[in-house]
Amino acid sequence: MSDHRGVTPAATRPAAPVATTAPATTTVEGPRLLAGSPIAAQIRAGLTADFAAFKERWGYVPTLAVVLVGADAPSAVYLRQILRTCQKVGVQGRLIEIGSDVTPDALCNEIERLNVDPAVAGIIVQMPLPAQIPLRTVIDSIDPTKDIDGIHPRNAGLLSLGYDGFLPATAQAAVEILKRSGIEIAGKRVVVVGRSNVVGKPAALLLLREHGTVSVLHSKTRDLGRHTRDAEILIVAAGKAGLVTGEMLSPGVVVVDVGINVVGDKLLGDVDFESAKGVVSAITPVPGGVGPLTNALLLTHLLRAATDQAECSAAAAKGAAATGAATAPGAATATGAVTAKDAAAARGADRRAPR
Ligand code: NAP
Repeated sequence: MSDHRGVTPAATRPAAPVATTAPATTTVEGPRLLAGSPIAAQIRAGLTADFAAFKERWGYVPTLAVVLVGADAPSAVYLRQILRTCQKVGVQGRLIEIGSDVTPDALCNEIERLNVDPAVAGIIVQMPLPAQIPLRTVIDSIDPTKDIDGIHPRNAGLLSLGYDGFLPATAQAAVEILKRSGIEIAGKRVVVVGRSNVVGKPAALLLLREHGTVSVLHSKTRDLGRHTRDAEILIVAAGKAGLVTGEMLSPGVVVVDVGINVVGDKLLGDVDFESAKGVVSAITPVPGGVGPLTNALLLTHLLRAATDQAECSAAAAKGAAATGAATAPGAATATGAVTAKDAAAARGADRRAPR
């Protein structure tokens, strides 16, 4: 994730092997717990410095806009965490709460306002959306250069081609937690439960990039346990509390539980921890596993987006000065005259897709 100058911000540099950094795991009686919080703390420390340097260089603090439509319990949990992380690293978080009776047009207008707001570097529209809102309309309406959670078709396409767009942060976190915990993926039988566009599918693509032998399961899969028992690494992102139990696992499997389910006053994963803990060799806790890492990675995307946009604006202003036209700071991206999209496309074209 280098910028135009080939400089990679500290927070987005590739994972250092865990053996050479602060331990990303904690040992307890039983399985190894793959905790996301220590990894996230490392990333946040780098981000705090990087965002301070950004402010110093460009004279403003970038904003992350989070759009919440209606009141969905897991979304609310997730959003609170993101806004807290913004505060920790010195980023402006802006929550836009919209009633669940909003029309598709009104929602798209709101997103367009954020697209053209030069202070806003990144936009997240929290899913799920109410039934009357066609998902496609919304994801198409986000400026792909501000789409820091990688839901726009442009970013999804870049991912599937192996180019460097914005990755869906949760899927990326599920893979990063393995890599940063020193767990080898190449050649392993990796099974992903869930095929959503935001988690399961992109996670499968990223695991394929890491040379895993990947299978994807979903609600129509027959005999789930037969497939999950085949896994050496199992990623579960189904949104069903306790869906995977210990008897559906093979001894020694490594499990990444992406699920966040609000059950009463508890947060539960998709894996039944009690029955799984005696079988697995390592497992992510819920909460404290994938979630914290997701938020930290999301803000590395925000830094990249903000840097791209600021540089595009500066380049546009320079061009305008040369031709005598006036260009406000940030206006390049906002107006689409010289967009970060084009810069990103050019960068993508320069990069050879690994896979
Ligand atoms: P989603 O859009 O509801 O997708 C769920 C997927 O699981 C679908 O592909 C579905 O299959 C599959 N599935 C559902 N029930 C199943 C079953 N009984 N057997 C096999 N597959 C089943 O959910 P999502 O957005 O991907 O999120 C998944 C989970 O991750 C949720 O708990 C969510 O709260 C959590 N999450 C966590 C984070 C984080 O930072 N940790 C972030 C985002 C989401 P079909 O395609 O056939 O319907």
